[in-house]
Amino acid sequence: MCLPKNHLLDRSEVALRAPKPIPWTPNKAAAANADVTKIAFLGLGVMGYPMAGHLAAAGYPLQVYNRTQSKAAEFARQFGGKQAATPRDAAHGASIVIACVGNDDDLRQVTLGSDGAFDAMGEGSIFVDHTTTSASIARTLYNEAGQRHFHFVDAPVSGGQAGAENGQLSVMLGGDEAAIETIRPILDCYAQVAERIGPAGSGQLTKMVNQICIAGLLQALAEGLTFATAAGLDTRKVLKVISKGAAQSWQMDNRAETMLRGEFDFGFAVDWMRKDLTYVLEEAERNEVPLPVTQLVQQYYADLQERGGGRWDTSSLIVRLDPGVTRQ
Ligand code: NAP
Repeated sequence: MCLPKNHLLDRSEVALRAPKPIPWTPNKAAAANADVTKIAFLGLGVMGYPMAGHLAAAGYPLQVYNRTQSKAAEFARQFGGKQAATPRDAAHGASIVIACVGNDDDLRQVTLGSDGAFDAMGEGSIFVDHTTTSASIARTLYNEAGQRHFHFVDAPVSGGQAGAENGQLSVMLGGDEAAIETIRPILDCYAQVAERIGPAGSGQLTKMVNQICIAGLLQALAEGLTFATAAGLDTRKVLKVISKGAAQSWQMDNRAETMLRGEFDFGFAVDWMRKDLTYVLEEAERNEVPLPVTQLVQQYYADLQERGGGRWDTSSLIVRLDPGVTRQ
């Protein structure tokens, strides 16, 4: 059983919860692999650490791997679980292997690299990838997994650090239906919604749609706030009114005030958005889809990186427009 949403993880609860067996993919290979509860988690970063924490708190036996081993040791101290030295060791004997690393190259390394997890995946097991990557690597790894008789599911997430900590992520899924149904109880531990969009790569393509929508919106919000300030308007009053009308958005509700204060030491980093929009624009070029606004915003993020803002939140676009907004 998973914890109630918004529940903060507490070490004492971990011991109290019994492991919950999950249903298994209805195929012969899976039936042969009776132990369905062992989960390996690769990548205990800002997102992976709390996600794995929810699984530990729900009672799943975990084998965790992190490149910087001290983080895995910290996780084991906080939540229990077994610390593995390599992705391959972590995946050994696990029915479900979950990854949340940085980009395509990182994912390639933890799957197909020397000591990668793929060499240890058992027949019928499932690899779930929460990294935001290109759709092409998702399809490649799906095919590679198929040849080795296990499953690969692309499962990028949205909702940020807060969503991971509160168990309120949105998960966009690509891959085989049966494998996705099998992992659903696991995803339920940290997701408010998990939707299969289609075949391999569809999860990543959906995450690209998500990023396209956010990028243009953030630039528009930055422009609106800059305009309001220059016009001498009381921005608090402006936001109070327009956030109740058609201009309302998550970004407006959660980022407008901090943008005006020049606070960007939180949230989703410019470096990550640059990476994501690179995948978006490559995909768009392949499909011959014009994305003029996304292309522009990608350049603006490059500019922020040059100014040393790679780790700033994506709402820092306003710094380029309003000389009055300086990073706090
Ligand atoms: P993060 O804090 O930088 O964590 C990245 C994790 O991947 C770390 O555990 C890191 O290990 C590991 N890693 C990176 N490269 C590796 C490699 N080559 N081999 C092995 N391990 C490697 O990043 P994050 O914020 O958790 O983001 C993870 C993914 O989720 C990214 O694809 C990001 O775009 C996506 N995402 C992030 C957010 C967000 O708000 N942060 C929201 C939605 C989606 P070390 O500890 O050794 O560095």
